[in-house]
Amino acid sequence: MTDDNRRILIAGGGPVGLLCAWLIGRHGLPLRLFDNNRALQVDPRAATTHPATLDLLDDALVGDMARVGLTAPIFQFWDRPSQQLVAQFDHAVLKNDTRHPFVVQCEQFKTAKLILDRLQLFPNAEVLFDHEVIDVAQHAGAVTVQVRESSGAISQHSGAFLVGADGGRSTVRRRSEIRFEGFTWPERLIVLTTPFDFEAERGYCYRSYFADPGAWCNCFKVSADGPPGLWRTVYPTDPAQSEEDILSDAGVQARMQSFFPSPQPYEIVHRNLYVTHQRVAETFRKARVLLAGDAAHVNNPIGGMGLNGGIQDAVNLADKLVRIMRDGVPERLLDLYNLQRRTVAIEFVQQQSIANKARLEARDPAVRKRNLDELRASAANPERARQFLLRTSMIASQRRAEAMELRD
Ligand SMILES: Cc1cc2nc3c(=O)[nH]c(=O)nc-3n(C[C@H](O)[C@H](O)[C@H](O)COP(=O)(O)OP(=O)(O)OC[C@H]3O[C@@H](n4cnc5c(N)ncnc54)[C@H](O)[C@@H]3O)c2cc1C
Repeated sequence: MTDDNRRILIAGGGPVGLLCAWLIGRHGLPLRLFDNNRALQVDPRAATTHPATLDLLDDALVGDMARVGLTAPIFQFWDRPSQQLVAQFDHAVLKNDTRHPFVVQCEQFKTAKLILDRLQLFPNAEVLFDHEVIDVAQHAGAVTVQVRESSGAISQHSGAFLVGADGGRSTVRRRSEIRFEGFTWPERLIVLTTPFDFEAERGYCYRSYFADPGAWCNCFKVSADGPPGLWRTVYPTDPAQSEEDILSDAGVQARMQSFFPSPQPYEIVHRNLYVTHQRVAETFRKARVLLAGDAAHVNNPIGGMGLNGGIQDAVNLADKLVRIMRDGVPERLLDLYNLQRRTVAIEFVQQQSIANKARLEARDPAVRKRNLDELRASAANPERARQFLLRTSMIASQRRAEAMELRD
């Protein structure tokens, strides 16, 4: 077999594509990864890595993520109008369910860099930045991508399988004519990052969720370039407001002040606006094309599940591709990848992230009260807290995926 028949092609050098590449590359299999950017993307998106995801990763990688990030064993729910702490959950109750009874807050570009550094040690792995996948074709026994290089030249690359890890707007998904089913939220989400120390000044822990009938907020800490770190606050915005207004200095200060009144203006080091969707691809496998990460599923960021789901896809898919390419296991195993990962994306991540948003933004006073009472009662009872955390930490969905089998 030539390398062209054995090579795994990967579109997208985000954390999901890089992880998939590293997990395949460490078995000596030839692979080629393309990313359209010049270098790793550095934007303030994912940070929260849940216990179920940490359990799937190499101990040394988790150690490095914790070293360059933060460890967060607890999270809190606050009622913003009354400024009351409603519930606090401690992952310690999961000590018999996971090797990692805590969350690691590591910005996704740091995780991606840790993986890229490892991947680049493998002579069998080619990582090509400034290479944009523009088309995909499948033939018997092979898949071919057309790639635009930085010079503008178009090249063709063939392999045994193609992993589309090229993000929410995936070209691989589109060119493979796979529908992306679901909807787009009317409100965009704004992320405002500040050095203001919410722990010292207000007693918030590293992951705090604020319920508010007008506008919710997630507030969490990242280590950034080292102590004292930065705090990211995420809010919904009014669909009628222009992007210019939302992102203006006045707009940003007004939002921070209305949520967290302070005598001083806030120092804002990043301001980013995101359109948010709830969508899942109609299939994660079309013959030799496999989708993973945001290319396969997207959701709102409340609860921090998007990249976690993507990492879980990458681990699952890399394991199956290695078994097929190295051990000669039948390719049908990839149907199990589709079954496991697509089912939990729909039944769990979509459902849970939509429910998380509904809980934070509920307007009806009776519904708000019921939601907050439920949180209080769950936090107060260790077994209920454990059941709650098994879902939020994605252990329950990972167990569900692992228990699935293909039927003839
Ligand atoms: C505000 C916010 C906060 C979030 N917080 C969390 C969190 O705490 N926890 C969590 O789990 N998730 C979170 N998410 C979601 C998370 O950011 C995404 O799920 C994650 O980035 C998906 O990783 P990925 O590798 O699949 O895609 P991406 O990170 O989008 O990477 C895709 C890569 O593919 C490249 N690419 C695109 N098209 C092509 C092409 N045609 N050819 C070659 N390369 C291409 C892109 O340049 C990019 O480098 C958050 C999202 C937002 C918006």
